[in-house]
Amino acid sequence: MKKILDVRDVGMAYHTVSGEIPALSHISFSVEEGEFVSLVGPSGCGKSTLLNLIAGLLVPEQGSILIRGVPLEQSSLTIGYMLQKDHLFEWRTIYENVILGLEIQKKKTPEHLERVNRLLTEYGLKDFRDARPSQLSGGMRQRAALIRTLALDPSLLLLDEPFSALDYQTRLNVSDDIGAIIKKEKKTALLVTHDISEAISMSDRVIVLSKSPAVIRSVIPVFLEIPNRTPMASRNAPEFKTYFNRIWKELNDHE
Ligand code: ADP
Repeated sequence: MKKILDVRDVGMAYHTVSGEIPALSHISFSVEEGEFVSLVGPSGCGKSTLLNLIAGLLVPEQGSILIRGVPLEQSSLTIGYMLQKDHLFEWRTIYENVILGLEIQKKKTPEHLERVNRLLTEYGLKDFRDARPSQLSGGMRQRAALIRTLALDPSLLLLDEPFSALDYQTRLNVSDDIGAIIKKEKKTALLVTHDISEAISMSDRVIVLSKSPAVIRSVIPVFLEIPNRTPMASRNAPEFKTYFNRIWKELNDHE
């Protein structure tokens, strides 16, 4: 497999009037094409900072980030970013919301619009094209937000706690749903979460971060002996609990 993302010895601190806030220290890891990788760590450890660096919204103070071997700032690869809130605009219909990125980036080409139509049809939102966001359930809204992100055909998807605003049951269904879509669309994804079960159920690999400033505690490949692995089915895999306990221990042993 080819590397799509290579984070090399990245360090980052925020400089505020009240002093320096260290966020990340010597972070190195890579992600292969098609992989689903999760970053877990305690609240405030630097997970969002890391995603913002990979998205190019922040510049690392130390180290480098390569995309398919090219420095991030020189890369033309499209990176999609999905956040905790769906940020759908109520004054726009679902269709107008999902094409927003294409509009902003002046990419409303027939090819991209065709792609949006396919995604809306395939993922059950075709009949809601003209609905307003408030007419949709939390899960459907998050699906619409994912379609808006996928409309630009990103090669790498960054997901920052995209399910944490949802109630527990919806969260399980939506993570299953979104996980299946990402797999079907053959996307590479990097998910930030503080939910250990969510990380195990969705990922090929889990990277455990320490508390702030984050260092990598361990990298845990996830192999589950179940056919047709989906996030929901993963939770019932015999090995699930072992992974959970191991990650829990990694997170708590150093407190
Ligand atoms: P996480 O996503 O793991 O909750 P963050 O990356 O948001 O963690 O934050 C890491 C650390 O950096 C925290 O101590 C946080 O308070 C601090 N931090 C985050 N953003 C800023 C900012 N813009 N200015 C100053 N400090 C910040």
